[in-house]
Amino acid sequence: MRHFIQFTLSSITLAALLIALINPAPAQNKASASSPQKWTLEEALAQLRLHPQDAYMQYVALQLARREGRLDEIAGSLTQAIGDEPISRTSGRRESVDLFSLFTGALAVQESLQLDAMRSSLPGDEPRPDPLRYLSPAMRKEIENSPERKQEYEQRFGPQIAAWEQRQAQVKKRRGETVPIARLSGPAIKSHSWTELLAGRKPEISPLASYVPEDFYFIEFRSLTKLLDVVETSDLWGAHLFNQVYREARSHNTSERLKRQLALETHPQLEPFYDLAVEDVAVTGSDPFLREGSDVSLLFRVKSADLFRTQMESFLANAERSRSGVKRSEGKYLGVEYIQLTTPDREINVFAAYPAPGLHLRSNSLPAFQRLIEMILGRTAGQSPRSLGASAEFAYIRTLMPRGAKEEDGFIYLSDPFIRRLMSPQLRLTERRRVLCYNHLRMIGHAALLYRTETGKAPASLSALAESQCAPGLFGETVLACPDGGQYSLAADGMTGVCSHHGHARFLTPCIEIPVTQVSGVEADEYRAFIEEYNQYWRTFFDPIALRVQLTPKQYRLETIILPLIDNSIYTRMAEALGGEVEPLDSLPVPRRNIFSVALRLNKEKLLAKPSDSAKSQIGTVDENGGGQKTNPLGPLGLSDTMAERLKLDEFLNKGLGNQLGLHVYDSHPTFDLNLPSLIGMLAGSLNGQASSFGGVEMMIGAAIISLNSPVYVALPVQDAKITDQFLERLDDTLAVEARKREGVSFLSLDEDFYRFQLKQGQTARSFGLRFGPIKLRIFWARIGNGLYVASKQFILDDLCEAESATTARDPGPAAHAMGRIRPQNWNQTLADFQLGWAENNREACLNNLGPLSSIGRAFTDSTLPGKERSDAVIEFADRIQAVHSFCPEGGRYLLSPDGKTIECSVHGSAGKPRQPIAPTEANALGKLMRDFADLTATLTFMPEGLRAVVTIDRK
Ligand SMILES: [Zn+2]
Ligand SMILES: [Zn+2]
Repeated sequence: MRHFIQFTLSSITLAALLIALINPAPAQNKASASSPQKWTLEEALAQLRLHPQDAYMQYVALQLARREGRLDEIAGSLTQAIGDEPISRTSGRRESVDLFSLFTGALAVQESLQLDAMRSSLPGDEPRPDPLRYLSPAMRKEIENSPERKQEYEQRFGPQIAAWEQRQAQVKKRRGETVPIARLSGPAIKSHSWTELLAGRKPEISPLASYVPEDFYFIEFRSLTKLLDVVETSDLWGAHLFNQVYREARSHNTSERLKRQLALETHPQLEPFYDLAVEDVAVTGSDPFLREGSDVSLLFRVKSADLFRTQMESFLANAERSRSGVKRSEGKYLGVEYIQLTTPDREINVFAAYPAPGLHLRSNSLPAFQRLIEMILGRTAGQSPRSLGASAEFAYIRTLMPRGAKEEDGFIYLSDPFIRRLMSPQLRLTERRRVLCYNHLRMIGHAALLYRTETGKAPASLSALAESQCAPGLFGETVLACPDGGQYSLAADGMTGVCSHHGHARFLTPCIEIPVTQVSGVEADEYRAFIEEYNQYWRTFFDPIALRVQLTPKQYRLETIILPLIDNSIYTRMAEALGGEVEPLDSLPVPRRNIFSVALRLNKEKLLAKPSDSAKSQIGTVDENGGGQKTNPLGPLGLSDTMAERLKLDEFLNKGLGNQLGLHVYDSHPTFDLNLPSLIGMLAGSLNGQASSFGGVEMMIGAAIISLNSPVYVALPVQDAKITDQFLERLDDTLAVEARKREGVSFLSLDEDFYRFQLKQGQTARSFGLRFGPIKLRIFWARIGNGLYVASKQFILDDLCEAESATTARDPGPAAHAMGRIRPQNWNQTLADFQLGWAENNREACLNNLGPLSSIGRAFTDSTLPGKERSDAVIEFADRIQAVHSFCPEGGRYLLSPDGKTIECSVHGSAGKPRQPIAPTEANALGKLMRDFADLTATLTFMPEGLRAVVTIDRK
C-alpha cells in the first residue's frame, strides 16, 4: 500500500514539478532614497513572532543580534522556531540540512542554510554539544550562575564533547581531500530486463522520442494547444493545492518565465496558428529543477514550414525588442546554424534552430541544445549512445500504453536512465553546491535590503555590506564563499547578488552546464550516506514513470502503470488479495448523502482457499473438531470454529456474498473540523525523503477520524439472497443468547445488546450494541436488495431502502480491482464546513506573505509616490528580489500602511489583526473549480504487466 501511494504521489509530484506554475512576470521599477526606518533587534524579534517563517526577518534578527554580541542566544531560539533539527545520516547526530532532498527545492532549505551561514558553520560542521540544552530556562540560568555546578555538568558531558572534537577534526581533514566524481557510484538498483519483456514486439514510437537522449525526461503532446491547456489546468489546481496544503500563496511563475526565456508567445489568438502549423510537440530536459533553473528544450514537428518559421522568427524579434541589453548572435554546431538571444541575467536565453526538415528546436541551454543536435543528426560523440526512442524500455512501455490511443492527448515519461541520472553523484553534488550558492545569493539580497532600510539607498558593493555590518562578513570569502569557486558581485540594481559560476537567484545556471568533476571528502561522504539510505528505503522506487494525460471539455484523465516491482512483497500480497476478473465497482444503490466511497474487488477464491489448495494461504484454518475442512476467516477475530460451523459461515462467504467490499462515507456536520487539505499535506509531507515516516498508521488514524466525523456504512454485494438471509437468521439466534449473558458485575463491565427492528419500508434490520460504562456503540445491518449493509446510523439503512426502490438508471462505475470515488454533487452539508476550512487556509497563506512584504515595504521609502502606486511598486520590487511572486489567494490587494511600516491585505487584514470571509469569495478560483467539478474517481487494476492507476475528474 505504502509503496504504490508513494509511487502515485511521486509521479504526480514529478509531473507537477515538470509542468510547474504560472503568473504574470513582475516589471522593473525604480526606487529612490528617503527617510531611514531602521530596525531595532526588539522590533525585529516582535515581527518574527508574528511571521516566524520570514527568511528575511530571520536574517535581520540574526544580523542585529550579531552586532550586539547576542548571536548564540538568538540563533538558539531561531533553531527551535524553524524546527531545524535534522539528524545526521553519518553520525546520527544533528546535522545542518538535508541537501539531497529531492522534493523540497532550494527555497525550502534556505532558512536553515542561512542560519548555518550566520553562525559561520560549513556543511558537515556540527554545533558543540550543549550540556545544558535540555534544562528549563530557569534551571539553566541557575546553573550558569554557579561555576561549580556548571563545571560538574561539563565534566559529565566530557566524553561526548571529546567525541564531537574528534568528529570535527575528521570533517576538517576530509574537507581538504579531493575525490574524483567517477569514484562515487550511484544507486545499486536493478533495472527490468526490457529486451526480454519486449519480446521482439515493435510498437509505434513517435519520431520526437528518437531525437531525445534516453536520460532526459520526455513529454510529448499531439498539439501545443493541448500542452498549454494541461499546463494551465495543472497550474490552477497546483497553485490552489499549494495554498491549501502548505499555506503558501507564492508562485514561482515557472512556465511564464520559461516562455519568456525561450521567446515563445502563447496567447489564445495564436491557438489557430499553432493547431495549423504544428504536427506534434515535445518538451525535454536533463533534470527537474525547473524552479531554480534547469535546461528546457522544445521540439516541434511542423506541418506548414513557411508559416511556422515566419511566426517563430517574429517571436524572436519581439523578444529582442522587449527590453534593453538583448544580445543577438548566430552560430553553428555540427553544421546546423542557430540563432541565440541572450541577456546577462538570463531572463531571455534561447537557442533556436531547424536541424532537420520540418523540425524546429528551441532550448534555453547550450549543452542541452548541442546534445539534442547530436541526437537528431545521429552523431553522438560517444557520451550517450542511445536515444529514448531506440531503447527497449520505452518501446516496452509503448506496448502497454500504445501511441495514438484515444486516452492520450499527452504522454509524460521519466525513464530509468533519467531517474538514475537524478540520483547520480554528479547531478546530486552539482545541485548541492548550487543550493549552497543560492543561499548566499539570497543572503546578499537580504543584506542589501537591510542596508537600504538603514541608509535609504542601495549598497555600492559587497564590501559596503560588510563594512556597514549589514552582512556577517564579506560575501565570497571563507564560509560565505561560493562552494564551486564562483565570484560574487552585486547585480546592476544593487539589490541582488550574482555568482560568476551559478548566475542569478531567479535564473540559476542549469546543472547540465556546470557539472562537478571533483568533490571534497566531506561531499563524497555525504553522498555515500545518502545513497546508502536510498538503496535501503527506496529500492522499489526504481522504475520508469509513464503518465498518460487526456483533457477534454468534459473530463480530465490521468493514467499511469506501475510495473510489478522487483522483490516487493507488498505488491504481491495486494495483487493476491485484490484480483480475479474485474467488476464494475459502483453498482449498488447510492443514497443522496453518500460523499465518498472506496470499493475493493476481493480475490475471494484465493482468500477463502482451503489450506490444502494453497499452502501459502494464511487465512484458512482447519476445523479439527468438525473433521471436514471448513474455513473460518473470522477465527483471528475470536469466532470459534465450532460457532463458525454452526452458522455455516463457509456457505455464506462462498455462496451468499459477492466478491466486493465497499466503505461509504455520508456527509454530515462534522463534530470537529477535519482539515482535509492538511491531512493530504501530512501524507504528502512524507515524500520529503525518509520513507519510514509514512505508513499504515496515518491512514488508519485518518480513517478513524473520518468515521468519528461522519456516518459511515459498509456495503457487501450479495450473490444469493436466500443463503444470506438464512445466515442472518442463524446469526440472530446466536446474538440473542449472547446478549443475555452477564459478563462480570464490576462497575465497568462490557454489556452486549441485540434486537431486530423494522425499517420504514418494512424490511427487517438488526441492531447490536456494546455498552462500556456510560458509552454505547451501536451498529445496524440489513440485507436490502442485492446488498448487505452494515451502518453506523439507523437512518442510513432507511436511505438505502429508498435508493434501492428508486427506478432511475444507475451508473455501475468503472470496472477495476479497487476504486475511490468522491461525489461532490452530494456535498450539501459538508461543503459549508469545508469552505470555512478553505477560507482559513487561504487566510493563513495570505498572512504568511505579509511579513516579508512589510519588511520590503520598510526598505522602500519613496514617499513621493501616491499610496496605491507605492504599494504596487513595493510588490513588484518584492517579486524581483524574492524571486517569487506573492499574491492573495482570495484576490485581495496588498496595501502599504501610511507609516510605510506594514503591508496589509484588503481582504485579510494583517497578521496582528487578521480577518477573513466565512467562505471563499466568488473571485476565488478554487471555488470556481470546485463548482465546476462533478466527480472524481480513482481506480486500480492489477494486470500481469503491472498495476494500472487511473484518475478521472469530470467537469460539469
Ligand atoms: Zn556560485
Ligand atoms: Zn489576502
